This record gives sequence, structure tokens and C-alpha cells, in this order.
Amino acid sequence: MFRSVRGPPTARGALPPFPPLQPGKASTQDLDIRDLDPAVWGTDVIQACSVCDRPIAESGLHQVWISSRVGTDTLPLLVNACSRACVDALPAPAKGNVPTPHTGGPGIVQPRADYA
Ligand SMILES: [Zn+2]
Repeated sequence: MFRSVRGPPTARGALPPFPPLQPGKASTQDLDIRDLDPAVWGTDVIQACSVCDRPIAESGLHQVWISSRVGTDTLPLLVNACSRACVDALPAPAKGNVPTPHTGGPGIVQPRADYA
């Protein structure tokens, strides 16, 4: 059976810009990671590093966007990493997408999908 999870047709060619992320933080001591503002952080709770599963509370927070293949679709995934090293350990994004993990914002333009 096939899943029919697809965006609207206009979203397939030119994706909207990625929302800008906050600069990486070496420590989360001044941040309540269980009560974040989703408009700023893209989520309201961050518990563990998306890469190594280490508790974010004991480390820093480095958020990046990465384009990742999920089934037959390529989706933007928000990565909450504990360190630059974990960001660097992310797999290469899917072909035809922004080639490195990035922090979004208007300067980042997703290359046009080339499905033809
Ligand atoms: Zn980590």
C-alpha cells in the first residue's frame, strides 16, 4: 500500500525558504529547553541531541536544517544537535538540495527540484 503524503503541487518545485534558526549556543544554562518559544526555536521542547542522543541540558544547542529523504519525498528536518561535532556528523543531504546543513533564513534558497 502506498502512503499519499504529498505537499501541494506548488510545493514540489520551489520550496519556501527555511525559517532562520538561532545561532549555536555553547551552553543551554540560560535557556529553558522544556518551555521554548516555537516561533523562535521551531519546537517547544528539546530533550536530546538528534545525532548522539545526549541530553541537551548537559550541553549546548546547535540547530540546523537538513534536507533528508523520507520514503519517496525529501523533507526539511530540524536537527537539534548538542555540538558542532554532531552537526558535522550529519549525513549529506539528499541530492538536489542545499548541499550542507544550514541555519535557514532568506539567504538559503532550496535548489529547484529536478525530477524531470
Ligand atoms: Zn550530539
